[in-house]
Amino acid sequence: MNTEARDAKTREAIEAFPIVRWLRGYTTVHNAMGKVVYADCPICGGKRKLGIYRQSKSGTKLAVCGRCKDGGHGQGRWDGVAGLPAFVKLLEQCDWRAAFKLIHELSEIPEAAWSPDRNNAGPPPLPDNCLALGDLLNSERGVRMLRERHCGHLVAHSFLSIGGKYHERVILPCYQNGVYTGFEAKATWSTQEPKSLFPFAMDTRELLYTARNWVAEDKRLALTESILDAETFHTLGKNAVGCYAGFKAEQVSILLDMEIEELYWFLDGDAWDLIPKGLRHTLPFFENYLVPMPATEDPNSLGPEGCDALWDQARLVTSLVDHMALTEEWR
Ligand SMILES: [Zn+2]
Repeated sequence: MNTEARDAKTREAIEAFPIVRWLRGYTTVHNAMGKVVYADCPICGGKRKLGIYRQSKSGTKLAVCGRCKDGGHGQGRWDGVAGLPAFVKLLEQCDWRAAFKLIHELSEIPEAAWSPDRNNAGPPPLPDNCLALGDLLNSERGVRMLRERHCGHLVAHSFLSIGGKYHERVILPCYQNGVYTGFEAKATWSTQEPKSLFPFAMDTRELLYTARNWVAEDKRLALTESILDAETFHTLGKNAVGCYAGFKAEQVSILLDMEIEELYWFLDGDAWDLIPKGLRHTLPFFENYLVPMPATEDPNSLGPEGCDALWDQARLVTSLVDHMALTEEWR
């Protein structure tokens, strides 16, 4: 299946999408001509708070609402930042397929001949022009990064991209329950933005990363935000997943399919206030445990020993009130 050709058509359609015309169906647009289209946010009503970049590095035409992003204003519908397809899906209240269909229709760029349904397309292949990290010197930046971040065991399974869109990024293949789902292209130096890139055809909302030492019989897991966070649990012999930068409702069904029973919430420390949003979805199905993650840390920065110590302090929560009580006690 030629995912790249589909991507090219979709990117072209996003590029040509008439933001202003579409947005006027929902709200007042204030600046229709600039590099950023400003409008009243149709979610929170904030005056001129919504900006949509005509061109953004990720090629997704980023939509950002400063007010929704502050937290508490997005009505639980979004966090204030979304690529164009996700933003179209949000306002149109439709599924992915319908969102992409609309983008192609309004752009007047036809879809590639085969189905644009991401679920039918298969996972995106690893990029061309990759070197196996295992073949490189220990002094190579990408190798050093993984070793310094408690993930030396990934060196044998990861790659360095040397050209194209992912140039000088470490390519971390993604698996879910042993099945390949795509990859994360991770920055290797501090000025590279964004820190993480995923192939366009990979819908991370509907995927989870399961760590390489996954044990299917173990029904407990650490719920983390990223691959390196999840892999930090490698030496502890504990199951861990990465939920790709924030837990989403769609990921509940994956956990149910894996017959998980206990979730240990190890989101980044600065995401403490987002935990209730996730708990709303998980409380009915799992035993949920919270840990006192320091505000400026994440599992990877704490390292395996730090994570182990937090796991021992985990507390069962059975309602959002319990989260409030722990906020009083821990934050
Ligand atoms: Zn808003």
